[in-house]
Amino acid sequence: MADTTAHRPHVVVVGAGIIGLTTALSLAATRLYTVTVVTRDTDATAVDDKRVYTSAGSGGFWMPFHCDPEALVRGWAASTLDVLTAEAHSPDSGVNIFPGVLLHPQAPAAVPPPPWWAALPTLSFATVDADHPRVPPGYEGGYYFESPIAEMDVYLPVLRARAAAAGVRLFVLGEDLVAGDAPSLLTAVRAVLTTLSSESGDGGTCDRCECVAALAPPSVIVNCTGLGAVALVGDTTLTPARGVTVVVEPSSPVSGFVSETPTGDGRELAYILNRGPKRLTVGGTYHEGDWSRSAPAVEVKALLDRAAAVVPAVTGAKVLRQWVGLRPARAAGIRLESEWVPPAGGTGDARDQGGVVVHNYGHGGGGVTVCWGCAKEAVRLVGAALPDVVVAE
Ligand SMILES: Cc1cc2nc3c(=O)[nH]c(=O)nc-3n(C[C@H](O)[C@H](O)[C@H](O)COP(=O)(O)OP(=O)(O)OC[C@H]3O[C@@H](n4cnc5c(N)ncnc54)[C@H](O)[C@@H]3O)c2cc1C
Repeated sequence: MADTTAHRPHVVVVGAGIIGLTTALSLAATRLYTVTVVTRDTDATAVDDKRVYTSAGSGGFWMPFHCDPEALVRGWAASTLDVLTAEAHSPDSGVNIFPGVLLHPQAPAAVPPPPWWAALPTLSFATVDADHPRVPPGYEGGYYFESPIAEMDVYLPVLRARAAAAGVRLFVLGEDLVAGDAPSLLTAVRAVLTTLSSESGDGGTCDRCECVAALAPPSVIVNCTGLGAVALVGDTTLTPARGVTVVVEPSSPVSGFVSETPTGDGRELAYILNRGPKRLTVGGTYHEGDWSRSAPAVEVKALLDRAAAVVPAVTGAKVLRQWVGLRPARAAGIRLESEWVPPAGGTGDARDQGGVVVHNYGHGGGGVTVCWGCAKEAVRLVGAALPDVVVAE
């Protein structure tokens, strides 16, 4: 077995959305690796610009939605639910548990059977009739449950602060890494680390010895770039699923969430989620293949009208922000696997060294719902790529 007391292998996470941050934190929690995050921007700067981001404006609601493959999502979503439920006990996390309903459409539309996640006891899932106080007129009834909602403009900074406290270093490049496949991603990351290292004059010693570990060539890269993976690793099965959300201050207090049940007939759905004490996120659109980052007034009005029909306090609500997000939807579902890049030999450039890229992207409409479970699996894959690393006490 290798001498693991020498230094910790360097793992570089690319991307600082909900997937990159939870992955970096989970890697750091093992205390086996030196962890660096490299990203074009942090989500704090992402909401208002035109770049491809998702996490900052996400509804932050735990509910599996357009997130596959179901067989794997079951475990990832369940373990994320446990973490987010625990987060809700810490008052400053930005995560809170809310009660709410998934509304059933009136006949003749078919009422969908309870989803697989109805069995998770944390949710207190129950079928309710039309006379339930949370069911507005015009619906057959619904499914009641209690679920975490992360206020993303609070939760993401909390995660970044935790990562910094855990020794994770975050480098915001302000520009795209440019690559087209896994070998060139390795090359691009190694090149950027070399530049950062010389610019900062900070070789970054690891906390076990004097080796220059922190900005050394990474042993493993974890690709958490969401929709950015289309360009970065050439994944053409990844496509945007455009969604518009509007943050409003309701005309009277609203507590909890309401969503129409997806019926699979392509109808636009209304959902209304608590986002802090006096704010609601109103959403519901899902348009695959649409890269547009603008929200025409007519689309926003239709969205607010649908929501007002479900929650009257949306009528006359003050609009605080509107946002267009692109969900990273992938034909085969989430890509969470290792790609081994063999040494090419010959030219002596970074590509020749080979390496491992662990991909963790393509979370569609459920990145918040599965983030911690996927991070755990990414840690397992990193561990499999670096089998000789053990904790040296
Ligand atoms: C309207 C809407 C509502 C949603 N609501 C919910 C919800 O309620 N619950 C839920 O679970 N999910 C929801 N989602 C989905 C969820 O937001 C996404 O699945 C999740 O945010 C994806 O996170 P990510 O970290 O993979 O991607 P992102 O947040 O997009 O992060 C990608 C990161 O990679 C970096 N990056 C990308 N390309 C490059 C590059 N070339 N070089 C350097 N860095 C790069 C970016 O800078 C960024 O830091 C919603 C999505 C939308 C659009």
